[in-house]
Amino acid sequence: MKNIESMEKLISALSMLPGVGKKTAERYAYSIINMKKEDVEYFASALIEAKSNIKYCSICGNFTDKDVCDICSSRNSDTICVVKDPKDVVAIEKSKGYNGLYHVLHGIISPLENRGPNDIRIKELVQRVSSGNIKEVIVATNPDVEGEVTATYIAKILKPLGVKVTRIAQGIQMGSDIEYADEVTLSKALLDRKDI
Ligand SMILES: [Zn+2]
Repeated sequence: MKNIESMEKLISALSMLPGVGKKTAERYAYSIINMKKEDVEYFASALIEAKSNIKYCSICGNFTDKDVCDICSSRNSDTICVVKDPKDVVAIEKSKGYNGLYHVLHGIISPLENRGPNDIRIKELVQRVSSGNIKEVIVATNPDVEGEVTATYIAKILKPLGVKVTRIAQGIQMGSDIEYADEVTLSKALLDRKDI
């Protein structure tokens, strides 16, 4: 199908997705072409609609289609759980081991990739802690080097504000991803959190 321009364009668009190589993109492209026209229209409109409606919650930074997300507007809690990505919120919510608030950093401190505290949403976290009735901040970044560096930094910057800073327990294997931890492990890691 090398010479069909529209097909090439579709394959190149699909290849932009993470984990989708040329072969998979081709397979997706063929299956899209074989779909009914209304299904393709639904597919395309879902992409556009999600992109234009979904934004960051003005408080926690999680994805939402409102100004303030459902968790921030419905939960009354003095605990904030800090995570790297919105996907981690989904994982922790699924574990049902936590019923507090969140703060999504949208990244992690990484000296290797030249990403410092000012490149992620730490300033916003400090603002929330200094202006609210927050008693505890649980740092639930991944148990890898960057996750640890970020947790240590957050503890250092928040402790002078008189808040308790804890780190989820190491039930989650070093070097693994919160996002992929099973629900029981994640729930236990939250329960067994330690002061930092
Ligand atoms: Zn929120």
